[in-house]
Amino acid sequence: MSRTARREQVRANLATARTRIAGACATVGRDPAEITIVAITKTFPTSDVALLAELGITQVGENRDQEARVKAQECGGLGLTWHFVGQLQRNKAGSVARYADVVQSVDRGALIGALDRGAGAAGRRLGICVQVDLSEAGADTGGGPDLGPEAGRTLHRGGARPDGVLALADLVAGAEHLDLLGVMAVAPLGADPQPAFDRLAAVHDRVLLGHPQARMRSAGMSGDLEAAVAAGATHVRLGSALLGHREPLK
Ligand SMILES: *Cc1c(COP(=O)(O)O)cnc(C)c1O
Repeated sequence: MSRTARREQVRANLATARTRIAGACATVGRDPAEITIVAITKTFPTSDVALLAELGITQVGENRDQEARVKAQECGGLGLTWHFVGQLQRNKAGSVARYADVVQSVDRGALIGALDRGAGAAGRRLGICVQVDLSEAGADTGGGPDLGPEAGRTLHRGGARPDGVLALADLVAGAEHLDLLGVMAVAPLGADPQPAFDRLAAVHDRVLLGHPQARMRSAGMSGDLEAAVAAGATHVRLGSALLGHREPLK
């Protein structure tokens, strides 16, 4: 596809996404200006990131360190804010801290320490969201069944159990080089996203009591942005709605 044709396709997709957001806001009496799109560019080429920037997108997200690091470097002059939204291994924290502006997927204390050290070493500050597990297993005080590492790849979408979120938020807020921005969640697969996002809203409201500046509520993807907007999302993370079908990772 020519660059002109791709640009037109992405422009049309972005217009459709904005119309959906406006419609979702109208339904619940919110102002669309309250919603920020984070374009999730994983698996798509750097040229698409540049197109999105031309079309007015300022926030982009990736979920794998290796891919994100290269793209962030290649797009260095575009003034973009880079969000890391994937499950993060502790040994990648130092790398992510060098290019990411926001890490949305923080779900355990060990990561907070590693990101804080990484940000300090890089002479940067990192914005942080605590990722909340909205699966029924996360809601279960027993912690849910042990699904095993492979099952976890598809069923567990990351995140801290809701009853552990406040402690993590406090840890982030106390870290020298980190700023607590808010919370993030992915709706559980195969379930109605609305009650899940409503649980996120309740968890976030408790975080806000102690950290009133942490207003970011990152919820909603291409398939469920309406439910997220209804539950007070401030950021929606849109991949396929903007860039189209993704080839599955091998
Ligand atoms: C891939 C991804 C998205 C975007 O998903 P789409 O369904 O393509 O919009 C959002 N959030 C996270 C954490 C992702 O990994």
